[in-house]
Amino acid sequence: MLATILVKEDFQAFITCPSCHRVKEQDVSTFMGVESHVKIRCRCSCGHSFHVQLERRQFVRKDVSLPVVCKIQERGYRLSGTVTDISQSGLRVRLVTSVPLEVGMRVDLSFNLDDRDNSLVEKFGTIRSISDLEVGMAFDSTQHYGKLGLYIEFH
Ligand SMILES: [Zn+2]
Repeated sequence: MLATILVKEDFQAFITCPSCHRVKEQDVSTFMGVESHVKIRCRCSCGHSFHVQLERRQFVRKDVSLPVVCKIQERGYRLSGTVTDISQSGLRVRLVTSVPLEVGMRVDLSFNLDDRDNSLVEKFGTIRSISDLEVGMAFDSTQHYGKLGLYIEFH
């Protein structure tokens, strides 16, 4: 049977050799690309060759309602809105007022989580979709440390 390995957002995978049970951490970014499932052949240092199925962990969306300020540097806008959902890869903001925006614009995001400390989060993102007042944005990085990382993972 083919072992399925969950791949983290940073494309690191822990691959266990079925013969000697040695675990190897491997960067699999070159295999995955945009695919969510890939079958690869591994060769362990013990000499055993085997196949594994790599499966990218899905980004879980979390429905939230967090006030946010979005600064669009290139237009000098400072927009208020509400974060309506958030995931490892990005977030969706419902703006208070409609303004001309374009996909690809850089956004400077600032919002407080509704965790115990109302932690302030400041992130950079890029607009990926616009639908009336709903704006989808992608974070520059899908790796989040500190409060936001914990929030997305466990809240
Ligand atoms: Zn081995």
